[in-house]
Amino acid sequence: MDSFADKVKKLQDVRVFLLDMDGTIYLGDKLLPRAKEFLDYLQTSGRRRVFLTNNSSKNKDSYVEKLNKLGVEATRDEVLTSGEATCIYLKSIGAKRVYLMGTPDLENEFKSWGFELTEDNPEYMVLGFDKTLTYHKLVVGCEFLRQGVPFIATHPDFNCPMENTYIPDTGSMIELMKASTGVSPKVIGKPNKEIIESAFKKFNNEFEKKEFAMVGDRVYTDVKTGVNAGICAILVLSGESTMQTVEESDVKPTVIAENVGEILDCLKEIDKNK
Ligand SMILES: [Mg+2]
Repeated sequence: MDSFADKVKKLQDVRVFLLDMDGTIYLGDKLLPRAKEFLDYLQTSGRRRVFLTNNSSKNKDSYVEKLNKLGVEATRDEVLTSGEATCIYLKSIGAKRVYLMGTPDLENEFKSWGFELTEDNPEYMVLGFDKTLTYHKLVVGCEFLRQGVPFIATHPDFNCPMENTYIPDTGSMIELMKASTGVSPKVIGKPNKEIIESAFKKFNNEFEKKEFAMVGDRVYTDVKTGVNAGICAILVLSGESTMQTVEESDVKPTVIAENVGEILDCLKEIDKNK
């Protein structure tokens, strides 16, 4: 592991922290040690926070609510879901008409970005974490793929963790549609760089690439996303990964920290020497 001084140096330029939540900020229903202090400091020191999630079934308010309940004040603007990231991506390539397979929350997100949701001649066929999936939607979606309408999916997770079990997520639905049509989607969410590029655009490209960092507890999703996007990739050891995970992985974090509290110490050190 790098020395503290090395970590400080690597974090010097970072102005925007893209934050995984579970295992990074909280574990289940408990904030991780010093997470609140870290998040407050980002705000008071003029740095930006983005709470990043691959889940495209819920709207941003549910994440704001969850953070508020844990004692962290956050705004809708600070949350980026793979659903919103997909909207930002589609806007950037000039899309207007979309066939969307998603929850009512995701449909509202798309409408708020000005997309026309249609079964009539769409330009893109978009698959989200559709907990309201029906056989009709599958038939229509697969038909568009057969006709050559480009296939976009919000994120690749096969399963979504629940309290004591898992439920099938978008990745599993992708496999179903792929089996039927032979078509694979372009995927926006982690570990793909597109979700980070949407974050760049969310800030109207106000910040440079070197000013972004992705923080998370999973090497193969969070760290890989940062590496794929060419930004600072910070692994925190407060969740799923251990040093052994890092040693066994070919994906290497830019910085490894015990938890977000250690990142906080680095930032305070940087600001002290300003
Ligand atoms: Mg996590």
